Amino acid sequence: MPYCPDCLQEARAGDSRCPLDRSLFVCSSCPRCEAEVFAKERFCAACGSHLEAGPARLAARLKTASVPARMAATLLDGLALLVVYEVWLSLGWPAGPPALALLAAAWWVLLPLGAGQTLGQHVMGQVVLTEDRRSLSLRESLGRTLAAALTWAFLGPVRALFRADGSTLSDLWTRTRTWSLVAAPRRAGPGSGS
Ligand SMILES: [Zn+2]
Ligand SMILES: [Zn+2]
Repeated sequence: MPYCPDCLQEARAGDSRCPLDRSLFVCSSCPRCEAEVFAKERFCAACGSHLEAGPARLAARLKTASVPARMAATLLDGLALLVVYEVWLSLGWPAGPPALALLAAAWWVLLPLGAGQTLGQHVMGQVVLTEDRRSLSLRESLGRTLAAALTWAFLGPVRALFRADGSTLSDLWTRTRTWSLVAAPRRAGPGSGS
C-alpha cells in the first residue's frame, strides 16, 4: 500500500500525492527479502528483519518525460531563476556570472532532493528520480547537475537533450531520469457515460 513519507497516511486509490502535505506517495520494500513494507512497520512482517529507513520508491504512475516537456520545464526554471536573481541583486549581494552560477547550482541540486521538484518541473508535473524510481540523495543530485552542466557546456542544449526517449546524456551517466506523472485513469461513475 503506497503511503505518504511525511505524515505516513496511506494512499487512497488513484491519488499520487498526499492531500495533506502534497508529498508524492511512496512504496517501501524490505531490503532483505523484498516483501512490501507498510507505513508504520519497524520490522518486516515476512522475515522479521529490522527496517532501517530503506529506499522508498515513488508509487505514482510515471513515464519518462518527453523532450518538449523537459525543455518547457527548463525554460520555466530559467525564468524563475531570473526573478530570484533580481531579488538577490535587490538585496545588494554581488552580481555577475559566479553569483548566477551559484544560484543555478543551488536551484537544480537542492530542489530535486527527496523526490522534490524544481518549480518548472512542478508546473509540468515532472519529478527527478533514479532509474529505479528512488528519490535522489544529495550526492546523486550533485552528480546529475554537474553532468548536465558539462553536457550543456560542451555539446550545447540540442545535442545534450535530444535522445529518442527524452533522456539526456547526464541521465545515462548518473542513472537518473526525469519522470512525468501520469494521471490515474478516471473511473467512470454512474451517469458519466457519454
Ligand atoms: Zn502526508
Ligand atoms: Zn523482510
